[in-house]
Amino acid sequence: MPHPGNPVTRSLTRVLADVRAQDHPGRVADYIPELSRADPEAFAISAASVSGHTYAAGDSTTLFTIQSISKAFVYALVLSEHGADAVTARVGVEPSGEAFNAVSFDDRGRPHNPLVNAGAIVTTSLVPGASAEERFARIRRGLSAFAGRDLDCDETVAASESATGDRNRALAMLARSSGALTEPVDDVVEAYFRQCALRVDTTDIAVMGATLAGDGINPRTGERVVPPAVARDTLSVMASCGMYDRSGQWLFEVGMPAKSGVGGGIVAVAPGEYGIGVFSPPLDAVGNSARGVATLRTLSQEFGLHLFRHPERPASPVQAIDVEPGGTVVIRLRGMLDFVAAEQVAHLTAYGPETTADATTRVVLDVSAVTASTRVAARLLADVAAELRLQGRDIVLVDPDGVIDIA
Ligand code: GLN
Repeated sequence: MPHPGNPVTRSLTRVLADVRAQDHPGRVADYIPELSRADPEAFAISAASVSGHTYAAGDSTTLFTIQSISKAFVYALVLSEHGADAVTARVGVEPSGEAFNAVSFDDRGRPHNPLVNAGAIVTTSLVPGASAEERFARIRRGLSAFAGRDLDCDETVAASESATGDRNRALAMLARSSGALTEPVDDVVEAYFRQCALRVDTTDIAVMGATLAGDGINPRTGERVVPPAVARDTLSVMASCGMYDRSGQWLFEVGMPAKSGVGGGIVAVAPGEYGIGVFSPPLDAVGNSARGVATLRTLSQEFGLHLFRHPERPASPVQAIDVEPGGTVVIRLRGMLDFVAAEQVAHLTAYGPETTADATTRVVLDVSAVTASTRVAARLLADVAAELRLQGRDIVLVDPDGVIDIA
């Protein structure tokens, strides 16, 4: 872990101090009696990059129960297990606009989404296992793989929730009556309570988020935890449904897929870049950590993490165009060739004055400085090459590292 003098750590420490100095009223959850014992002043943040760097500030080694943050990751596990079609047959992907513990079912009897309790209980029922024990063991292994270390369950919190968990049992019964849930209610609900009571710190949830940010690969262990499509699908649902009935407001202001829990934690993800974990137990009126929300709002604004900001792109994929004697035009490309970059090259080749000049008989595409290309970019360039040949021009590809494949 970088020492506190690290500039990234210093900025995280400053954001915590700024937010602490502001007024963000909240109340520690007490509907699960054990949760009311949390220290309201505890405050922490961790960030983990997809390349495996972690930074932390505040009480980042304080353990808390993961609660509803688990819902996103158990959803990812069942998507990998059964595929998206089988899972969405049982639980939808629409924001409910309702509280986390609402009776939230659509007209097909499915819970609206996997991130409210009704949907999460159905999701837990889709984890294979013949008993609550087996189901929970599998969940614990899966979430530990996301965190990159062995997580354990706070049995006191799990028992406290079970003792007061009739509303969740009722949601499970309703799901069973509509056919969304087919397993025994008690097995499922007990596994769900223990899943919610897994103990984490902010660095654990940051790494869990970074695993989704990194296409399913845990940056701490290098392990592929879920396939890329599952990471993407999970982030989609977190973006639209992760913050309960503040999900729209959250996407508007903060612009990151996220998931909160009544223990006071929030995980947020900058896709392809970072996982961020924050922790502060007092909750706002809808059950999201009040300081946590403020911290992520500040981070998003200051560090430019909003998903829908205008994307920064490298200047141009075209490094140089050289017109050589004898009718040859050499186009030198650089950097990453994705669809957007290839579209610029295609446009330039089809309409550019150098390539369309009558005197041009040969076009050399030099991709020696291209680092990688996507398949769709290669296909587009192949079409450009075919077009140039139709016009009677020769096309030559200079690709010493074999980054691109235009036949
Ligand atoms: N275990 C909690 C419950 O089901 C999780 C709720 C939450 O974190 N929002 O009530």
